[in-house]
Amino acid sequence: MNDVLIIGSGLGGLECGALLAKRGLKVLVLEGSNQPGGCMQSFRRGGLHYDTGLHYVGGLAPGQTMHNAFAELGLLDLPWQRMDEDFDHVIIGGRHFAFHQGYDAFVEGLGKDFPHQREALQSYANRLRNITFADMDVCAYDYLSQTFTDELLLNVVSAAAMKTELRRETLPLFNFAHTCSSYIESSWRLKGHGNQLVNKLVGTIEEAGGKVLTHSKVVSLTEKEGRIESATCANGHVYEAEFFISDIHPATLCTLLEGCPSVRKAFRRRMTMAENTCGMFTAQLCIKRGALRYFAHNVFIYDKPNVWTMTEENNPVKGVMISARVPEDGSDCLRQLDLLTPMPWHECSAWTQTTVGRRGEDYKKFCQRKAEQCIAMAEQYIPGLHEMVEQCYTSTPLTYRDYLGSPEGGAFGMRKDCRASLLSFHSVSTTLPNLLLTGQSIMLPGIEGVTMTAFETCSKITQDKARH
Ligand SMILES: Cc1cc2nc3c(=O)[nH]c(=O)nc-3n(C[C@H](O)[C@H](O)[C@H](O)COP(=O)(O)OP(=O)(O)OC[C@H]3O[C@@H](n4cnc5c(N)ncnc54)[C@H](O)[C@@H]3O)c2cc1C
Repeated sequence: MNDVLIIGSGLGGLECGALLAKRGLKVLVLEGSNQPGGCMQSFRRGGLHYDTGLHYVGGLAPGQTMHNAFAELGLLDLPWQRMDEDFDHVIIGGRHFAFHQGYDAFVEGLGKDFPHQREALQSYANRLRNITFADMDVCAYDYLSQTFTDELLLNVVSAAAMKTELRRETLPLFNFAHTCSSYIESSWRLKGHGNQLVNKLVGTIEEAGGKVLTHSKVVSLTEKEGRIESATCANGHVYEAEFFISDIHPATLCTLLEGCPSVRKAFRRRMTMAENTCGMFTAQLCIKRGALRYFAHNVFIYDKPNVWTMTEENNPVKGVMISARVPEDGSDCLRQLDLLTPMPWHECSAWTQTTVGRRGEDYKKFCQRKAEQCIAMAEQYIPGLHEMVEQCYTSTPLTYRDYLGSPEGGAFGMRKDCRASLLSFHSVSTTLPNLLLTGQSIMLPGIEGVTMTAFETCSKITQDKARH
């Protein structure tokens, strides 16, 4: 029998698998789709690999937030490349600003543009360094508006947090700060595709005798005497284990638990009624050879200082993130560029009943129009970009829903609400003692958040093992 069965091979599932396999447990990971990795997986088009949810990672240098975790997971050996010292550029209403790596340089850099807000910047940097669980109850927007009297600066410091869901009323400072802080410590891109990270974790699991099975969608869990006993897959296979970890969306997990009497109604209600974060629209561009020099920083462009309100009304596109991919052929020029912009679920309403590849001509036109808008915005930083594009591949929240089973294609899992932190942040433990949770919906999204949660999930299992 397996010691641990993990449902879903997203980053959180694979990290738990690797950590527990290294501790000598027999691990089985069941993945519903044809490829492991969830948002970390890459796909191939025209001979090039494109990533889905991996653009940059923060805090990998010794002594920083992610260093020890990645060292333990064996992920530090991957070809990470440190980004430019000015790692994030922000353009708002045509004005250009930069974030620098290192807290002092960060304050110094923005302090030059906003000399009257130097103290506020210092206080902001200190707060980011000392974030605690109590900040789950603090509204990020309220904190920022109390800290910065200059509205433009408030927008500038928030601009790079487009990679989470910026919502004035709900976003907890805890989440906002975790989205920003490790990148200020140091920022890194992976040279080559994200499947390297996935393969490394899968390799660790398999070397220790564990297995990662694809085409193995779990459709139900069976309970016996207050514990989960087995998982049944759509292909009819049934697997038993001592512990079960869910790395899938908690609302989906509830459908698997329908026949389990120990699952409290309150848990089901909390997980199924919870709101999801918005999705992302991505235009992944293949750039003509030699047309554009590589740049090792991201660029966040907004048409005006509306960073905190644009998500819900982002049609036509009002803000875009540009992320370049490290050239792999030794050239100074890049071949791939991602343009990302938030896309709420209601923009998908005409196609919610459709499936991949069968969404019709109007969907294709919609995606083409949105990609054109993203490219037009990106031209503020890369003049003539339109002419450099050889191919453009797009994805919407529908893509994420259909490939990864994330309800409403939410890019960052379930929404966290500073007004109801007890209801929206979740423990990795459940009322069933051998069923644990992990993944981006539990506490924090992103590579940092998911990794922190995976360590917490695994510690519950090792503590339980040590007790018995
Ligand atoms: C566009 C985009 C860009 C991003 N960029 C960055 C970035 O630059 N830096 C960063 O830190 N983070 C980024 N993120 C966030 C990061 O990718 C995610 O937070 C993280 O990968 C989520 O991991 P997870 O463990 O929650 O699993 P998921 O990625 O959600 O994977 C869950 C897996 O479970 C599988 N599954 C679902 N149901 C079942 C079932 N019934 N049975 C078996 N398997 C099932 C799915 O197929 C999937 O493989 C980005 C996300 C998006 C969407």
